[in-house]
Amino acid sequence: MSLELPRMKCGHQGIALHGENRVCPICFGLTPLAEEIDTVKIDLSNRKARCVFCGREEDSDLNLPFFEYHGEQELDSYYCGCKAPEGFLTKV
Ligand SMILES: [Zn+2]
Ligand SMILES: [Zn+2]
Repeated sequence: MSLELPRMKCGHQGIALHGENRVCPICFGLTPLAEEIDTVKIDLSNRKARCVFCGREEDSDLNLPFFEYHGEQELDSYYCGCKAPEGFLTKV
């Protein structure tokens, strides 16, 4: 059984529940867009998503982990599951 998650106006998927509503947990509280479902259909064909950490590229797919649609940019982003490079989170 596959559950189709809504895409929120902030560009992320509504993977979290706030009460009965789907919200984006990344942007929730930061922007009201995180609580608004974007009903505009996006065309992901011929688009690539790049892992924000290692740069690995995959065909854009809403089911990629942490997929983020960047309509106005050439590449979408996601997180492939690799470990964040040393120093990415803690600047030395
Ligand atoms: Zn978001
Ligand atoms: Zn990666």
